Amino acid sequence: MDSKQQLKEDIVRICRMLHRKNYLAATDGNVSVRLGDRVFVTPSGVHKGLMDAYQILTVDLEGRVLSGEGKPTSEIRMHLLAYELRPDVEAVVHAHLPYATACTLAGIDLLEPILPEVVITLGGIPTAAYATPGSEEVPESIRGLIEEYDAVLLSRHGAMTVGRDVTDAYNKMEKLEHTARVVLAARLQGPLPPLPAAEVEKLRRLREQYKGGG
Ligand code: 13P
Ligand code: ZN
Repeated sequence: MDSKQQLKEDIVRICRMLHRKNYLAATDGNVSVRLGDRVFVTPSGVHKGLMDAYQILTVDLEGRVLSGEGKPTSEIRMHLLAYELRPDVEAVVHAHLPYATACTLAGIDLLEPILPEVVITLGGIPTAAYATPGSEEVPESIRGLIEEYDAVLLSRHGAMTVGRDVTDAYNKMEKLEHTARVVLAARLQGPLPPLPAAEVEKLRRLREQYKGGG
């Protein structure tokens, strides 16, 4: 299998996983991978649990279709902006996480340092302002956040994550939804106790070490 075919198969595997985990329903969500100046991306309006590799489109960095049937995802501009702003990013995942989306509806801010491993791995999870799904408003809503964070909540909509490959971006999605579940469960009992500032500082130092490979 050549590397392009392998990347398309990887996208399909992650889409099936997103569906199996209930991170999206039916045709929700979209996934892309960059290879040089090409982007492999899911088609618009296709069930993510029932998709095959031949359905993945190839577009250039302006979103022009180079090969494939149908239309690329309606969120293609969000994916392309992430690649433009983050040269280190090689994959983007967007899903409609039920618990994380509920946090945006309930006004719960996941940027607060609550769980230590989130401070270490993601730094924090900001929430982008509400934007009409599929519109030019979506990339604009993540501008100013995606430069700094690998996981962003989309208000009343879902989340997007970025990574060095599609598994890395998917892992951040899974971590985000897990965090949202913990936070919502704790919120049933009362206000969330924040991590003490000195502990957060220790975790931030650990994060820098991990990023630097130390
Ligand atoms: P597409 O099917 O066009 O990718 O749209 C799904 C979605 O989640 C839009 O926000
Ligand atoms: Zn969506």
